[in-house]
Amino acid sequence: MKIGFFGVGHMGGPMAANLVKAGHEVSAFDLVPELLKGAVETGAKAADSAAQAVQGAEVVISMLPSAGAVRGLYLGETGVLKQVDPSALIIDCSTIDADTARDVAAIAREQDRVMIDAPVSGGVGGAKAGTLTFICGGPEDAIQRARPVLECMGAQVFRAGDNGAGQLAKICNNMLLAIHMIGTAEALQMGADHGLDPAVLSEIMKASSGDNWSLDKYNPWPGVMENVPASNEYDGGFAVKLMNKDLGLALQAALSTQSATPMGNLAKSLYAAHGNHGYSEKDFSSIQRFFRHKDGG
Ligand code: NAD
Repeated sequence: MKIGFFGVGHMGGPMAANLVKAGHEVSAFDLVPELLKGAVETGAKAADSAAQAVQGAEVVISMLPSAGAVRGLYLGETGVLKQVDPSALIIDCSTIDADTARDVAAIAREQDRVMIDAPVSGGVGGAKAGTLTFICGGPEDAIQRARPVLECMGAQVFRAGDNGAGQLAKICNNMLLAIHMIGTAEALQMGADHGLDPAVLSEIMKASSGDNWSLDKYNPWPGVMENVPASNEYDGGFAVKLMNKDLGLALQAALSTQSATPMGNLAKSLYAAHGNHGYSEKDFSSIQRFFRHKDGG
């Protein structure tokens, strides 16, 4: 298939590369020329403009940093939506607020275009390995059409509901992730403060009712697990600034329905403070350091 791909950053770069590997013809566009060069090295074609990237495309995919970037790309006078062929399927994989996802999809529908939201879980590792989880919102038939393309980049494709539902499901998940990461970090610190070995304590909690993904797959205590950011100075992985962004989206969603999210609110405050203490670019499991005693204990 001919695929127009927007945003070849940390996630979009390897996702576009996996589409090329699967035999698709990818025309990529990014505002950063260096990143576009990288995409070309993995077999994509570099488009000179957004309009050129969608020319002849049967599928258009975007993986952008924010709702503003998504609106900017598709809508307005210079928006690319009008240039997308009406028979093409538009898949926005960016993590943005559900209202924007619904608005842009509705405008696309008014212009006889079909658009779905398909934010991802799985991080840069999942993007590289082609094992992402796609959490989609949109018409059932459109998601079925998207499935074979998404399966070139991921292992699982879910439909959460109509347009915007993919974004909502994704931020529910990430709010919970933030909460159990913080809970895991504080439990490990308290155990260590009392002289327990965090590795032994982790094994005990994994076999007990405290077991959770942060403890089991992404342990935040340095050295307990290999190949996780905690054992690499908290580099790589999912940045605190991105977790902050997702928690902001979760609180925005909670506000619009008057949902009570006390743990999500606290998680947002803790991650904001942590980011402001120099950890913005570090992996989100670095919240472990937030609980560390001043003497490094
Ligand atoms: P990134 O900043 O590395 O990449 C985004 C790219 O989009 C940049 O290269 C930027 O130049 C480009 N861009 C912005 N506006 C554009 C436009 N109008 N046309 C073309 N390109 C444009 O960000 P990322 O880490 O790849 O994340 C992308 C999205 O995926 C975000 O919404 C993020 O929340 C989500 N996400 C990220 C992770 C992660 O671990 N990094 C995990 C899951 C979801």
